[in-house]
Amino acid sequence: METKEALAAVRKQNGLTQDEMAAKLFVTRQAVSRWETGETTPNVDTLKLMSEQFGVSINELLGHGESPECQSCGMTLKTFEDFGTEADEGISTEYCVYCYHDGAFSTERTLEEMVESNMKHLAEYNQEMGTDFSEEDARTILKAHLATLKRWRQPAR
Ligand SMILES: [Zn+2]
Repeated sequence: METKEALAAVRKQNGLTQDEMAAKLFVTRQAVSRWETGETTPNVDTLKLMSEQFGVSINELLGHGESPECQSCGMTLKTFEDFGTEADEGISTEYCVYCYHDGAFSTERTLEEMVESNMKHLAEYNQEMGTDFSEEDARTILKAHLATLKRWRQPAR
């Protein structure tokens, strides 16, 4: 489900009009309308408020599957603070806070540089996952995986 559909679904499940939803979240009706057309996304504070008020998880709010990952570095996005921000301070539904800020990538990088940046966490990863990847294996796997993410599927920017 796309984020705009997920946000509209939460409102409808709670039997609210856009006006009522806006009042509950201290935003304008236009803001709610723009989320539901996919023009903008709510900011972190508003998402937290929605999550509390309606008892829905971050994944339900954003329409993500079980464990969404940053479409640039592959980091798992678990909390609202993990998500990057758009230029209007709305949340980025695709990138993490380290990769993406105010509507732009924090660092110009090639796929190879991103692989090397992630390699710094190999020991940590092996420990956490109980795996024993060598540097060489990890590099190959990482590169293949990152290449499937949105940032790297597009022509070099
Ligand atoms: Zn990232």
